[in-house]
Amino acid sequence: MKRDLPAMAQQNFDLVVIGGGATGAFIAWDGALRGLRVAVLEKGDFAHATSSASTKLVHGGLRYLKSLDFGLVRESLAERRVLSQIAPHLVHPLAFMLPAYNAGWRQRLILELGLSLYDILSFDRGFLDDPDQRMPGHKMLSRHKALTLEPSLAEDGLEGAFQYWDGQMHAPERLALEAIIGAVEYGASVANRVEVTDFMREEGRINAVAVTDLETGSNYTISGRLFVNATGASADQIMRLATGDTPRTIVRSKGIHLIVPKLTRDHALALQIGERHLFIVPWRNHSLIGTTDTPYDGPLDRVLPTREDAVELLDIVNGALPKANLKPSDIRHAYAGLRPLVETQGADTGSTYNKSRKSEVLDHEAEDGVAGLISALGGKWTTSRHVAEEVINLAERKLSVWVARGRTRWTPLPGGQTGQFATFKERALRRWADCDPKVIECLADNHGALMGQVIAGAQGDSALLAPLGDEMPETLAAVRHAMRHEMALHLDDVLMRRTGIGTLGRPSDAVLDRISSFMAAELGWSEAQRQSEIDNVLGRFVTFN
Ligand SMILES: Cc1cc2nc3c(=O)[nH]c(=O)nc-3n(C[C@H](O)[C@H](O)[C@H](O)COP(=O)(O)OP(=O)(O)OC[C@H]3O[C@@H](n4cnc5c(N)ncnc54)[C@H](O)[C@@H]3O)c2cc1C
Repeated sequence: MKRDLPAMAQQNFDLVVIGGGATGAFIAWDGALRGLRVAVLEKGDFAHATSSASTKLVHGGLRYLKSLDFGLVRESLAERRVLSQIAPHLVHPLAFMLPAYNAGWRQRLILELGLSLYDILSFDRGFLDDPDQRMPGHKMLSRHKALTLEPSLAEDGLEGAFQYWDGQMHAPERLALEAIIGAVEYGASVANRVEVTDFMREEGRINAVAVTDLETGSNYTISGRLFVNATGASADQIMRLATGDTPRTIVRSKGIHLIVPKLTRDHALALQIGERHLFIVPWRNHSLIGTTDTPYDGPLDRVLPTREDAVELLDIVNGALPKANLKPSDIRHAYAGLRPLVETQGADTGSTYNKSRKSEVLDHEAEDGVAGLISALGGKWTTSRHVAEEVINLAERKLSVWVARGRTRWTPLPGGQTGQFATFKERALRRWADCDPKVIECLADNHGALMGQVIAGAQGDSALLAPLGDEMPETLAAVRHAMRHEMALHLDDVLMRRTGIGTLGRPSDAVLDRISSFMAAELGWSEAQRQSEIDNVLGRFVTFN
């Protein structure tokens, strides 16, 4: 992928996508696949904002059944199947346990009915080529069985547990990146670290945006026939810039996650805490705990969890799972993100927790007479591909062009062309038998069918394919590939989004030093620049000791 803003400024795109999170990435991929000339402009790095701060679940959202949001649940369950089909290396089934405490027969019956409905709404979950991706229906486990499977469960009042299945993303950042890579393969032009600062009009119609290259400070004008605002929690700011007003109010809610030593064996736990729920999810040999839901009106860049947020969440976990006995010093990593929730006019749904996660595609020409702009608002990671399909369907009508039918529903992402994933991994282990098996597994998980490119890029230098540490199967070969082919410009891009190195907490000084020196040699950083890259990364790791 080549970042070339001067070249982008010479073109007139069919579609200019503002925002390179999950929504913008899938819009770009869908549009490019259907033959549109697409540009993506991302202020930070691809998927650096909310898309990297989720619970990493590809899920129907069992709790939305309670609010009778059957449409959202069915859409999400259908998308769960689609994502596991098009990205089998990045989306996997995950077993959940929903324990029933002092529930009584009435509450258990309600849960049983809810989960049966969940099974019905995911009637097509078995229609997948890869048998490992097919999810069974739910079942009720006895108290004894539940405790045998997950001894960390609190025993007091436990009557049994429901077991059900949902999906998990191995690396959401890479899932979005693969949609960007796929778009580029089909002719899209993309740039990270470029901010849209203004809109320009001709005869009342938006025909260009002013942008600033945040790497160089240079300004450009990017022209297009149609613009899509896919800026997540910033969507109202972009609407205001374009329309002078904000036709939809975006309510922002902050959610934090904690990564701690592994609390469960194999299951994710879905715990009901009063009116709220909490997930404890196994992830990369740790437990990911999430999430909170508090109204937020602070600055939008780099939202971090506070000590207060973290301690409150730990207390809730310790209350629900006393055997965990977590202390602030157990937190290996903590991160926070903002949910952009679209305020439905006239509907007071109370807390942000109860606000709808439904997405909305807004045609500003019809809504407020601003021709040339569409906004894709709200939604879930899980439904971002489907939202993108709707945006391109609308773009097709607005542009009065005939484009090919949407194909992203069944076209594998670039790394997703693996066939049955377990067999793919076995073949990879045999093919590169001279490499450390942990390295091969890690490359297969992160890059899927593109892993051969990473290995080829090491050009026979076996040192580049050695693991970076005892518990760190990532390699300098992946770092080099990120810089040369995945538009990684900074240490933060490499550690947090191209590889998983920083996603379990602060890497050691030795690792930071080694990777930043390797990047400095490739990108020509001075020593001062290298140090400032390290300082920038360290700023995102909060400690709570
Ligand atoms: C705590 C939490 C947990 C969640 N858990 C889940 C989950 O488990 N499963 C699930 O399905 N969903 C989950 N979600 C929801 C999901 O993460 C979001 O729906 C999704 O990531 C939104 O993606 P997006 O691309 O719309 O927004 P973002 O990822 O925020 O992307 C918007 C992009 O626009 C860019 N941008 C902004 N302004 C400009 C500008 N002026 N110029 C250029 N670019 C700009 C930003 O830099 C940003 O990268 C969760 C959300 C939160 C907050």
